[in-house]
Amino acid sequence: MNAEIISVGTEIVLGSTLNTNTYYLSKRLWEIGINVLYHTTVGDNPKLLEDVVNIGLERSDLLIFTGGLGPTADDMTKEVISKALGLKLELNKNMEDSLKDYFNQTNRLMSSNNIKQAYLPEGAKILTNEIGTAPGIYIEWKEKKLILLPGPPKEMELMFNKYVIPMIQQDYTIKIKTINTIGIGESTLETLLMDIIKDQDNPSLATYAKEGQVDIKIIAKGYEEEKVNILLEDIVKKVENRISKYIYSCDDETIEEIVFNKLKNKNMKIAFCESCTGGLVSSKFTQIPGASEVFERGIITYSNKAKIEEVGVSKKTLERYGAVSEQVAIEMARGLLNKTGVDITLSTTGIAGPSGGSSSKPVGLVFIGIATKEDSYAIKSIFAGDRKSIQNRAALKAFDELRKIL
Ligand code: ATP
Ligand code: MG
Repeated sequence: MNAEIISVGTEIVLGSTLNTNTYYLSKRLWEIGINVLYHTTVGDNPKLLEDVVNIGLERSDLLIFTGGLGPTADDMTKEVISKALGLKLELNKNMEDSLKDYFNQTNRLMSSNNIKQAYLPEGAKILTNEIGTAPGIYIEWKEKKLILLPGPPKEMELMFNKYVIPMIQQDYTIKIKTINTIGIGESTLETLLMDIIKDQDNPSLATYAKEGQVDIKIIAKGYEEEKVNILLEDIVKKVENRISKYIYSCDDETIEEIVFNKLKNKNMKIAFCESCTGGLVSSKFTQIPGASEVFERGIITYSNKAKIEEVGVSKKTLERYGAVSEQVAIEMARGLLNKTGVDITLSTTGIAGPSGGSSSKPVGLVFIGIATKEDSYAIKSIFAGDRKSIQNRAALKAFDELRKIL
């Protein structure tokens, strides 16, 4: 089912109202697996709107309009659409009564142009507006679905969630699975999955890159729920088998949450000793509610002096290998483990840039140290990007390494 969102309103075309409705609808439709192929915005002009309706009918199965359903003369969405579809507008008695009730209850006088809102295209269904006067309208026409929603975002959102989503989904099952990966670039991932992605219409499979992470979204659709489940599970299994070592979650859990849950289940305590990430690892981790159950402390040892004083890194090691080195990363993690007595520690030391790099130690070089009672080691990485994204990627990598060892 291909969808198009059509916003009606001169104020949007002119830039005096930000088109948040299209943004909202696109997001929600995507979440329920509907392909939105077009966004169109048109002013309150009957001729232009009619053109837009006709173009939309040519290329989309589901047309969702917002705006122009109110009582004033510049509200004409319903009238223009009825004309384009060749449908008569009929007075709906129930609608008329409920409008009268609404005005009585809110102690307002119903003006004569309000009655305009009680007219519906023949065969159309009403979508109740619980917080305003302009009702929404649902029209089925030659295999196409047209949904007319009011412009005010609160009214539109309530109506969409309460009435439109169930209508779209009533005889159609859409199942979605997200697979979250880390440690692999989008293009490499795509290459690995190319034969699954290619020519794949149902289920559809797409990759979405975030900083340092790639999500794979798989959407299966159909009229029989059983079959849809099987379609989805088949592809999910294929993908999991192929790239299992990069998958950290299948439920949109963050990597910090994964680490938190693993620590909690194993009844372990953790502490961080950060240099180049400046507290970012601790900050991300403490955003999880209940972090205190597993998080003992985080310290930032930015200078050499701090590394020596706080976690006992030896002056010799610093002089011989430099602060950004495998040896220092290990001594930081081990020093913190000895100091705190927790079960596992992690350290970061690196060159976040933009200056301070050299040919042997370029900007983006980061060592992540990990210490447990049994073992300590460091992982070397070189991250691309500006200072902020190097720090971000280093923090992500830190959690990924913890996930692997836990
Ligand atoms: P009403 O009965 O309130 O007139 P309506 O369906 O006729 O509803 P409009 O008159 O087009 O809607 O717009 C009403 C309000 O909603 C205006 O303040 C308008 O700026 C806002 N609005 C309309 N469309 C959008 C949109 N796409 N994004 C954000 N706000 C919008
Ligand atoms: Mg209006």
